[in-house]
Amino acid sequence: MESLADGVRRVAAEAGMDLVGIAPNDRFQSVHHRLRPQAHLPGAKATVSMAMRYPRAMYELAGRTEAESYMSLQMFDLFYMPHNLLMAAMDVARYLENRGFLSIPMQLGQYRVRPYKDIPTYWTPDFDHDVAAVAAGLGELGVHGVPITYEYGTRQKFISVVTDAPLEPSPMYDGPPLCDRCMECVKQCYTSALDGEKLEDVRVGDRTFAVARKDIWRCMWSKRFMLLARAGPDTYGLDVTVEPPEGEITEEDVQEAQARKGREGGMQTWYSYADRACERACVPPHMRNNGSADSGQGAESLE
Ligand code: SF4
Repeated sequence: MESLADGVRRVAAEAGMDLVGIAPNDRFQSVHHRLRPQAHLPGAKATVSMAMRYPRAMYELAGRTEAESYMSLQMFDLFYMPHNLLMAAMDVARYLENRGFLSIPMQLGQYRVRPYKDIPTYWTPDFDHDVAAVAAGLGELGVHGVPITYEYGTRQKFISVVTDAPLEPSPMYDGPPLCDRCMECVKQCYTSALDGEKLEDVRVGDRTFAVARKDIWRCMWSKRFMLLARAGPDTYGLDVTVEPPEGEITEEDVQEAQARKGREGGMQTWYSYADRACERACVPPHMRNNGSADSGQGAESLE
């Protein structure tokens, strides 16, 4: 008979997920207590982490070919893939609920922009899908703080389901190192949001990862608010760049910069995209010569 964990894997695969793992609660020790599984579901016993990979050519070539277009990456990154991930999480939650277990599919893309009660940070989601993925054995945290998997590097998106089902945990990843501190992510960041001189230990389960301190406002300046034309908007003809100020960036700085982009960019402001240079620059060591772990096709074949 199919075990509960195998049933979860099957349902996830049927929903189009490429990776699935299961994390026990005690691997979330680095996460703020309000972001832990038990903070959402008292009695939580496990978190299912799942990922959908990006089509490789779409991810690698966006903005880099004669078409000079990010539009497919924009649509699938911002709409189709989040939609499918959310639906997969709903499928898994309903599967577990039908077997008598409480389950919450976690959201994607929502934040508390300002500090909230005892949460001191800005731009804080209510759940950490990145730590969940690593806690579920799917990969390692890189210097950029994003999970790197053996199968796809950084070329996937994650979602999680918290449940009180007693699911057997997946082992932590113990394959070849996926981050060798090449620091390409730090070098390629458009806004110098990552401080490669200040690596902080992030403990997940029995593993410790060195993650660069991130200025989240500097990161959001380009990634979310698309204020640098060179990060992608210029391929839409949106040639408006507002450089981030030196030092600390405030909410007011972003609002003023957005107003200027809207005034100067006109209608095109509504149709744009900025890539995440740190993730695109990141190719784990075992993929550097042949592009992917299993395909045998070189990344260079896409260039
Ligand atoms: S770009 Fe290099 S340093 Fe940064 S996460 Fe990837 S492997 Fe690690």
